Order: sequence, then C-alpha cells, then structure tokens
Amino acid sequence: MAMEYLSVTNAQQCILESVTALGAEPVKLEQSLGRVLAEEVRANRDIPPYDVSAMDGYAVRSADLAKVPATLEIIEDIKAGDMPTKTVQAGQCARIMTGAPVPQGADAVIRVEDTQFLAEGKVQINVAVKRGNDIRVQGESMRNGEVVLTAGTEITPGVIGVLATVKCAQVQVHHSPRVAILSTGDELEGMDDPVDPNKIPNSNSYALMAQVQALGIAPALLGIARDDPDELAEYLQRGLHFDVLLVSGGTSVGVHDYVRPTIEALGVQMKFWRVAMKPGHPLAFGILQRNSGGTTKDTFVFGLPGNPVSSMVCFEEFVAPALRRMTGHARLYRRTIAARLTHNIKHQAGRTEFIRVTLAKEEGGYTATSTGAQGSGMLLSMARADGLMAVPADSTGLAAGSMVTVQLLDGTVFQDDVGFKE
Ligand code: AMP
Ligand code: MG
Repeated sequence: MAMEYLSVTNAQQCILESVTALGAEPVKLEQSLGRVLAEEVRANRDIPPYDVSAMDGYAVRSADLAKVPATLEIIEDIKAGDMPTKTVQAGQCARIMTGAPVPQGADAVIRVEDTQFLAEGKVQINVAVKRGNDIRVQGESMRNGEVVLTAGTEITPGVIGVLATVKCAQVQVHHSPRVAILSTGDELEGMDDPVDPNKIPNSNSYALMAQVQALGIAPALLGIARDDPDELAEYLQRGLHFDVLLVSGGTSVGVHDYVRPTIEALGVQMKFWRVAMKPGHPLAFGILQRNSGGTTKDTFVFGLPGNPVSSMVCFEEFVAPALRRMTGHARLYRRTIAARLTHNIKHQAGRTEFIRVTLAKEEGGYTATSTGAQGSGMLLSMARADGLMAVPADSTGLAAGSMVTVQLLDGTVFQDDVGFKE
C-alpha cells in the first residue's frame, strides 16, 4: 500500500482504472430515465413513413404557380391519419393538414396563411414555391434499420422519445451499483436518538445518501457503528456484500480510527489512503473480491473523512465518477464553467484545495465568490455553494479578477474531463 500522499488526479486515475461498467439488465421504458443504454438501438421503420405535410395548407403542383396569384380547384381534404384517394392534376390541389400524406401529383405544400379560400371549392394561392416546399420527406427523421442510439447513450427525455418511436417498451441498460453507507464514531447521534448536547448529529449518512440519489441510485443506510473493532467489523461485513461501500469517519491516524485495519482484516486490498487535498485527506480506497453465486465480484470501499464537508467533497471528486462509470456513463465529472474570481485567495502550495463558491451572472459571464468560512466542518458552506473551485496544488494563491474553473454542484450534465489542472 502506498503510504505517500497521492495527488487528486492520481487518486482519481487509480479509482477509475479499477472500476468498469456493470452488466446489463432489461428495464421498462417508463423506468429508464437517467440509465445508460447497454445495447445499440435501430429504427424499425422510416419516420415519417411517407412524404407528409409540414403545415396546415394545400398540397399543390409547384409548376401551377409560375404566375401568382393562381386559382386552384380543391379536390380533396386530407387529415393526419387519412390516406389520399385522388391524384392532383394540373390546376388542382388538396387541402392538407400537418402530418398528412402528400397526395400523388403534388410536389409542394403552401401554408394556409399564404392562400385565400374562394367560394365553390376553389382557393387562391398567393406565393410561388419550389418543389418540396413544406414537405417532410419519407425517412428524413429516421431510416428503417439505421442505428439511432449507440450503446453508452444516457437516457434523457429526448432519448425516451426516440425509444418510444422505435417501439422499445423495454430497454437493456447497465445495472446500477448497489451502494451502502456506513457512518462510524462514538460521538454520533442517530436521527431517532434524543438530542444530547454532547453528541454530534450524524449528518454524513444523509448528505452521502442524497449525493448517491442525485446520481439516480438508491443507497442502503447501514446506520452508525461505534469505534469498536468488533462492532465495526460486523457492520463492515454487512456492507461488503454491496458493490460499493462508503464508510464515513475513522480512516485517519487517531488511536480509535479502526476502519482501515478492520477492512484490511476483512480482506479488502487497500489501494491508497492519503490524498493531497483540502478538505479531504484522509481518503481511503480499497477493493474486495467477493464470491457472489459462484462468480467473483468486486466491492469497492471508500473510507471517507468524517468531517462533513470533506466527506461531501471526496464523494464529488472520487466516488461520483466511479459510480457514473459503473452505471455505464462516459461523462464522469461535474460540468464546469469559467468564472471571474471576486477576491484574492490565499493558498499554501502542496495540496489541491476545493473552495465552495457561489456564482453570479455578470455581463459576459459569471463571477465566483467564496461562501465564507471554509472549515471542513462548516456544512453550511456546502449548502450555500453553487460549485467547487479547485485551487491547484502548486498554486501560491489566486488574485481577484483571475479566471477560475468551477465544477457545478447543481447540474445534471457531466463532462469527461476533471474540471481543473494540477
Ligand atoms: P473522523 O474522520 O472519524 O476523525 O471524524 C472527523 C470529524 O468528523 C469529527 O469531528 C467527527 O465528529 C465528525 N464526523 C464523523 N462522522 C460524522 C457524521 N457521520 N456526521 C457528522 N459528523 C461526523
Ligand atoms: Mg471518528
């Protein structure tokens, strides 16, 4: 096990080299939002299935409009869902509604606003148009047999529309990892415990739960384990049946920090436990190969720092990308935007610092302003933040006015690259 401090990017790389997308399962279309396609999907017909009108108006022969206004005889009314029964001859047209098939003989559509209805089944056309005007040609949206969605596509509302178009009532998606959350610490007070002024409310289980939920995954809360090696081992054993186990607290070097030795004793192979970041270190990452129904599966264990802000920041930087990869996503990191810093930031070179900031819109872009006191226990700094700004490890401070990159905490759009340079 490496004892030195890893850089944030090396730690991220180490984690992402270990995790891969999980296998596939079928889900109903109605339940597939936010999941990732594990199969490619092809169109099963042309859309539209024939040339259709893009407007409410008249299907005409464009050659009849060499001179406008032109008066044409209306031979038929065609609604969406009707099939035309007549061929449009010279001097004739058909009244047509949006989505209705263009009749034989017609080669353009004139929208109703450019016409004037005359008595006795005649209409005056006021504009000349080219062939194909306001016609949606057969197969212009999708061609029968064409790959319309590739494996790895995240299922958005637009994708759901495409899947419904090709009649996928059920789709193959990557499994969601099963995630367990365990908090540790003698000082912790559970949600249902009476308020004790000497105790610390267990906020980490809930903040982590919400961070997992925000990725579309429902985690299991395993409760609170006391700082006792035997009790801890019991709780950890339960958690090691999951795909991912998040353990909050107890990973540091204090005499009562039993998490690392206990998970190692349970067979977890530690990859690292120190990252050069603030807030954040100690962050432990390890893997257990477990036997599950005759096959070997991995349980990824994250030992997160107990300080509430550190726990959340470590989740964003390390756990979220891993969960996204397991779920099959290609884009693993929070989307970033550029912002102008409104004040100086002091920084001691050596570790990457994640500063909680609020964003405001200004002409030409955004400004970023620290949420205030940044202590790793100041959970309100996280509650108020629009994003995380990374001060690179080698920085000796940032001046007001400089442009910085902010990872958006409230967005649902992710990107492939980390949002900062070390
Ligand atoms: P630890 O990492 O166990 O040394 O804990 C560091 C700090 O985080 C201590 O002040 C703990 O009281 C606090 N802490 C640990 N676990 C939690 C939790 N689940 N919720 C809120 N604070 C916590
Ligand atoms: Mg503790």
